[in-house]
Amino acid sequence: MLDVTVNLYNTLGKRVEEFKPNEKGKVGMYTCGPTVYHFAHIGNLRTYIMEDVLEKTLRFIGYDVKRVMNITDVGHLSSDGDTGEDKMLAGAKREHKSVMDIAKFYTDAFKTDALKLNIRWPDVVDPATNCIDEFIEMIEVLLDKGYAYVAGENVYFDTSKLKDYYCLSAQNEDELVIGARDDVDEDTNKRNKADFVLWFTKSKFENQELKWESPWGLGYPGWHIECSCISKKHLGEYLDIHCGGVDNIFPHHTNEIAQSESYFGHKWCNYWFHVNHLNTSSGKMAKSAGGFLTVSSLEEKGYDPMVYRFFCLQSHYRKPLEFSYDALDNVSAAYDKLIARLKRLDVSEDKKDELKKSFKIDSSDDMENSGRHMSEAGKVPAGADSSVYLDYEKRFAEALAGDVNTSSAITVLYDVLKADTDDVTKAALVLRFDEVLSIDLKRAILAVEDESDEGEGVDSELAAYVEGKIAERAAAKKNKDFATADAIRDELAEKGIMIKDTREGTTWEKA
Ligand code: AMP
Ligand code: ZN
Repeated sequence: MLDVTVNLYNTLGKRVEEFKPNEKGKVGMYTCGPTVYHFAHIGNLRTYIMEDVLEKTLRFIGYDVKRVMNITDVGHLSSDGDTGEDKMLAGAKREHKSVMDIAKFYTDAFKTDALKLNIRWPDVVDPATNCIDEFIEMIEVLLDKGYAYVAGENVYFDTSKLKDYYCLSAQNEDELVIGARDDVDEDTNKRNKADFVLWFTKSKFENQELKWESPWGLGYPGWHIECSCISKKHLGEYLDIHCGGVDNIFPHHTNEIAQSESYFGHKWCNYWFHVNHLNTSSGKMAKSAGGFLTVSSLEEKGYDPMVYRFFCLQSHYRKPLEFSYDALDNVSAAYDKLIARLKRLDVSEDKKDELKKSFKIDSSDDMENSGRHMSEAGKVPAGADSSVYLDYEKRFAEALAGDVNTSSAITVLYDVLKADTDDVTKAALVLRFDEVLSIDLKRAILAVEDESDEGEGVDSELAAYVEGKIAERAAAKKNKDFATADAIRDELAEKGIMIKDTREGTTWEKA
C-alpha cells in the first residue's frame, strides 16, 4: 500500500476530511445506479466517470474496494419526492413495451455506455426488483420501532422522529414548498411535509405493472428504500463511502440516512461523495428535458468516447461543468497530441512484451474485463528505473488523493513525459496512470488495436469513391453541418459501406 493520505470533501461535514475506512485497507463503496427508463445522458455519465476515478484512486493506492450499485427498475416517480408519474411506467408507455423489457433494454444500454467509457463495472450490481423481501423487512422494522406509519394504505417515514433529519443538506422544512410545481399535489396522508413513502399500495397508480404482496397490501416500494437495503445487503451496516450526483443530496440521500440510521440505531455512512452537474448553455442536462446527449450521439458526431472521458477528467468533480462542442474539440485536439507524443516513445518490441505482461494487458481482452486490472502499488515493472517510477507513482497518487484532483494528476502525466528518464520508464508510468485515468493510452504505447481488415480485397475504384465521401463528410463535420455528415453516412450505408469513426480517422468496410 502506498503511504498516501486520502482527503475527500465530505458532504456530511461540508469540508475536506481525511479518509479513514472502518476496516484497515478495505473500502465499502455504494453508488446510486441509473433509473433505467431511458438512455443515460452524458451528464449522468460524468457522475459515473468521476465515481470510477475515486474507486480506482483507492485501488491504485492499495485499498481493497468493494463497489455496489443498484439499478432502479421500480418505484422512482417523476419528482424525487413522491409525486408525479412512475418513470419506468412512462418509459414503457412511450415505447409500447413492458416495464421489464424497458428495464432490460436500458440496463444493457447503460452497461455498454459505461464500458465504452472504461468505467469499471461495479463488483455487485443489483436491481431493485431483486430485493423486494429486503425492502419489506426494513419497512417492518421501521414500523416496529415507531419511525414509520401507515396512512391511506401507504407506508410513510415519519421525519419528525429524527433530531437531525437535514444533516446532509441545508434544506429545512419551510423550504419544501409543496404545490409550487404544477405536477405536485399535497399528499394529505403525510403527517409532516418532509415525510416520504416507503411502500405504495394499489391506492396509487392503478395501472402499475409491477406489484408485490406485502403486509400492507399489493404494492411496490418507494425509491429511497432501495438504496438503504441494497447497500445493507451487500456491504453490511457500516458503509465507508456513498456516492451520487449533487441532485441526490436532497431528498434521496437525506432519506437514505433517515431510514438506515433509524433501522440500525447507529451512524451508517461516514463519507458522502457528490459529483456536480454537467450543464449545457441552457441549464442542467436532464433525461426528462429531452434532447440530451448520449455516448452514441457523440460517437455519431465522430467523437471517441475516450475524448469525453478526458474532457471530464480536466475539471474538478465538485465544480459544475459546462458542455460545448468547442470545448470538446479542444480536448479532442489535446488527446490526439498526447497520443501522438506517446507513439513517439522509443520502446522496443521486446520491452513492449514485457510491459504487456507486467500490466496484464492482453489484446484479446473483451471489453468487460479490459481495464479491470490494477497493479500492485509500489511494484516496479521490469525494465523501469525504480526510483523514478516509485517517485512519480507516488506523486500521481498524491494528486488524486487531494480530493480526486484529476487535472493535477494529468499534469503529473505530462511531467513524466518531460522528465529526464528513459522511454521505457515513461511508458511504464503512463500505463500505470492509465489504470486510473482509463483513457486507452495503452493503445498508443503498445499498439494494442482492434484487428481491422478495412478495405481489403475491394477494388480501387470503390475505394476512391468511399474515401472521397469520407473526406466530404469530414469537411461537413468540421463545419458543424451534422445533417450533411449524417446524410453521407446513410448514403454509404445504403450501398453496404459501413463507416466507423476512430481516433486515427474514419475507417470503412463493405458489409
Ligand atoms: P438517474 O438515472 O436519473 O437516477 O441519474 C443517475 C445519476 O446521474 C445520479 O447519480 C444523478 O445524480 C446523476 N445526474 C443526473 N443529472 C446529472 C447531470 N446533469 N450531471 C451530472 N450528473 C447527473
Ligand atoms: Zn440511491
